[in-house]
Amino acid sequence: MARQTLRVASALLCAVAALSARADLVVLQYHHISDATPPATSTSISLFEGQLEMIASEGLEVVALQAATEAALNGELATRQQVAITFDDAYESVYQQAAPMLEQRGYPYTIFVNTDAVGGKGYMTWDQLKELNQSELVTIANHSHDHGHLARRIDESQADWEQRADNSLDRAQAILQDRLGIDVPMFAYPYGEFDAALEEKLSTRNWIGYGQQSGAVGATSGKTRLPRFPMANAYGQLGSLKDKLLSKALPVNANDLPTGVSADNPPTLEFKLPETLNVSQLSCFASGQGRIEIEEGDNGIVRIQAPDGFDSRRFRYNCTHPAGDGRYYWLSQQWLDLQQPED
Ligand SMILES: [Zn+2]
Repeated sequence: MARQTLRVASALLCAVAALSARADLVVLQYHHISDATPPATSTSISLFEGQLEMIASEGLEVVALQAATEAALNGELATRQQVAITFDDAYESVYQQAAPMLEQRGYPYTIFVNTDAVGGKGYMTWDQLKELNQSELVTIANHSHDHGHLARRIDESQADWEQRADNSLDRAQAILQDRLGIDVPMFAYPYGEFDAALEEKLSTRNWIGYGQQSGAVGATSGKTRLPRFPMANAYGQLGSLKDKLLSKALPVNANDLPTGVSADNPPTLEFKLPETLNVSQLSCFASGQGRIEIEEGDNGIVRIQAPDGFDSRRFRYNCTHPAGDGRYYWLSQQWLDLQQPED
């Protein structure tokens, strides 16, 4: 009897150890890699090099996005933390600066292309995209045709929105197929903006959807609302990079979180913290407002609301909780205020 209890206990311990040792996938999001483009959407060449060096020195595995995302959602990641590199908008500097640096290291990466912009000033040409697409390290995927704000506008009829969204999603996919012969089931939302109906459009197409809220991808992440860490100069500094690279998805079912379009300003976020975590160790922050209070309800329900209203179109609540080994669980809730002008 005692022996059996011991065996059960040790099996349980192994299961717990396996669970806590399980790695997650961290997706990095870039626009320009350049010292001459707008700072808000640029990563300097030296910072990019420093980031790649940190990924290498931490012994992280740089992986192709789609397979790693699917494995993470299925809870099938190995124990080694994985990183995927993505670029939105197919800017020229990615071809000129980033591509050779990544090729040299043998790191795979994904370029999300808004097809209407290709060949325009500052963007790659179709020939350049074709050339990159020859490399087995490169995946090219859909970032819409027109780079529109694709959540349904307040004054837009359902029929007009359907037509606008379907056209932007499917036209880009058709052009990528026509120009490059590819049909990759991944989509990055322009501006990271989405609503529930747009997520549904991705689900119908069986596409994977990536936003611009931060956090790691794990088994509890949502297939059409996956987080990526923005890596522009203001966010990608080396001092805070290690915490992001080693972060894990806060084990809260992302599909139970709100879609982000909120009628209330400031909005309220509620979620249930797993029993293994402790609300007193949870820290939450709101865009531009710093640390915010956490209200504890019954059964591990936490409720957070920033003290002040927001006057920007997109803003976030970010929460972290220690995950052991100096690592953090990370959850970012994006909010979208459709009343604010499109940028
Ligand atoms: Zn974009």
